[in-house]
Amino acid sequence: MGSLEEAEPAATEGPGRERAGRPLTLTPVNVEGWRYCTSKLMNPYSGRLKSLRAAWLSGKTRPIEYRKKQLEALGRFLDEKKSDLFHALHEDLRKSAFESEISEVAFTKNEVMETLNNLDSWMKDEYMSKNLATKFDSAFIRKDPIGVVLIISAYNYPINIALVPLVGAIAAGNCVVLKPSELSSSTERVLTETLPSYLDPETFTVVTGGPEETTKLLENKFDYIFFTGSRNVGKIVMTAAAQHLTPLTLELGGKNPCYVDESCNFQNAANRIVWGKFFNAGQTCIAPDYVICSITTREKLMPCLQKAIHEFYGSNPRESPDFGRLVNNRSFQRVRALLKSGQVAIGGETDESDCYIAPTVLVDVKESEPVMQEEVFGPILPIFTVADLDEAIQFIKRRDPPLAAYAFSSNSKVVNRVLDFTSSGGFCGNDILMHMTLVSLPFGGVGYSGFGKYHGKFTFETFTHYRASLLRGMGMESFNMLRYPPYANRNLGLLLSATTVRRRGICTLL
Ligand code: NAD
Repeated sequence: MGSLEEAEPAATEGPGRERAGRPLTLTPVNVEGWRYCTSKLMNPYSGRLKSLRAAWLSGKTRPIEYRKKQLEALGRFLDEKKSDLFHALHEDLRKSAFESEISEVAFTKNEVMETLNNLDSWMKDEYMSKNLATKFDSAFIRKDPIGVVLIISAYNYPINIALVPLVGAIAAGNCVVLKPSELSSSTERVLTETLPSYLDPETFTVVTGGPEETTKLLENKFDYIFFTGSRNVGKIVMTAAAQHLTPLTLELGGKNPCYVDESCNFQNAANRIVWGKFFNAGQTCIAPDYVICSITTREKLMPCLQKAIHEFYGSNPRESPDFGRLVNNRSFQRVRALLKSGQVAIGGETDESDCYIAPTVLVDVKESEPVMQEEVFGPILPIFTVADLDEAIQFIKRRDPPLAAYAFSSNSKVVNRVLDFTSSGGFCGNDILMHMTLVSLPFGGVGYSGFGKYHGKFTFETFTHYRASLLRGMGMESFNMLRYPPYANRNLGLLLSATTVRRRGICTLL
């Protein structure tokens, strides 16, 4: 693990100085070097990172007792600051206490508990199989922390998305820089003002700000970056990470299809789709982005969607305490523009002063229209019609793999066909969002929806280096002689027979 100091060129090599008596000429190469050098020297975060690096090198985050203490403190933060968090989430997104509890606070608390319950076993060395040459040795995987890690989070679930990765980062024994989203500013404030007093300030810090600050932050070397956000920013973060060869996770978005079959309990399907789509006003990375179905299905589904929307949010959803708002005017403008695609069949009302867009269903949308091209990420549900299941599968397959895919049918073969013949980060049959409520399942994208996975044990693994370890004794040198020069063919044969991996069930004597 290199330290920050190692990464910085020595100041004596800057322009304006002479090296070994030679006047320095500003070639493009050393102009670049100077820019690199000055940006490093002026980086506003290098001091804080230096302290975190020192704490990391001291080894204080490694003992299990330390990790558990930090996780318990994180659990206390969630309990004691729950009402502040609910208040902030309401200010940022008009999120109801119900949604805040199940998708943010209780959700994160579950991750803390799952981790505390299992950390002893997750951290244990994993003993592995051996060959004849290592029969008397000890071969195992040591679960090493990675170092100083950076978590950059998105605005839509500002507690969940910031703190669930943090649980795993702490559990794995790392020092952490947390960069919450500046767009959910009230939640960012609670995280900045109160969370650091629960955790060890030597090993954990919060950095606030938007693109400009994050760009500066990313100039520093981290040992792992965990990013949640949009594809475009994901590319920027990945490019910055590449400068230091820093590995990373990208949790991105996408267009999640929801196939509805002709054999279906339409009202039950509609209830689940409406709940999953309009939860958090559609600002959910695994919300069903669009429904895909036949025209016959659409005709049966529409009245059920209408009924569900009415029952959930009343005749005027603007007055419902359970329906959220878009995070800001920019997001409102972007989502409102999507209403120009297709025809509004349900909803469509907007109020710019309140960042309000009613729960909306669009019909007659074309593949080329913006609502079927960009991630909706708002309370608009387009219904895209196809001839049948096969055409739906082909349509899903020829697009980028989404973060989630859904299929509704009373016929399990239909659900399984969608599962078998499409690709997505996660899949849920006959419901929406529910697959992510299980701490036992990995959460993450595939292809353009990102890479890496987390939740439960997978978060711990993300922030852990699996260190291949072999402990051997000092004796048995006569056996070791087989591999030393001068090489002999006879020794090679013996060595190969002691180390070769053979295909099981195939007789090698023939
Ligand atoms: P975003 O990409 O705009 O911002 C994410 C983070 O990146 C923020 O902390 C922001 O400050 C920072 N950032 C923004 N611009 C930057 C730049 N130029 N350079 C460096 N950092 C920059 O995303 P968002 O609008 O907050 O979130 C919405 C997106 O996130 C959607 O696409 C959604 O699908 C996705 N998302 C994915 C998941 C997941 O788990 N896969 C979860 C939630 C949201």
